[in-house]
Amino acid sequence: MCEGEKMKETNGKEIPKTLDICGVTFHVEITDKINGDGVACEINYKDNKIYLTKKEAARYSINKVLQTLIHESLHAIDRYAIYFEADDKNTYEFCTKIRSTQLIQLFKHNPQLLRMLNHVCKYKEEYDNVLFRKE
Ligand SMILES: [Zn+2]
Repeated sequence: MCEGEKMKETNGKEIPKTLDICGVTFHVEITDKINGDGVACEINYKDNKIYLTKKEAARYSINKVLQTLIHESLHAIDRYAIYFEADDKNTYEFCTKIRSTQLIQLFKHNPQLLRMLNHVCKYKEEYDNVLFRKE
């Protein structure tokens, strides 16, 4: 059903410029200045940026970019919403990878959840007051 979409390359066009995570605006920047070796994406809490390598942004399918952005978003949620700090970085990265993949799988296999999410997005103001108490 989604064959065409699966093959679609991003070419950087589909990548959002910003993400609002826990009320913090993160700018998504396509760059070559990522510190870690072989890392495709990185979140920086000092300048509120999510870095994605140029190479990966050009090569990745929408599905992979989505997975990467959700992966980095989960890191920010852990930090800002549950104040979680991992002792074992490798295990934490592995768990984050599993969570992002499974979250996407959940929505892929349950499009009714996406329809509900679209509805909530459409009436954002109304639902924000119910779901999140902004202090
Ligand atoms: Zn990570």
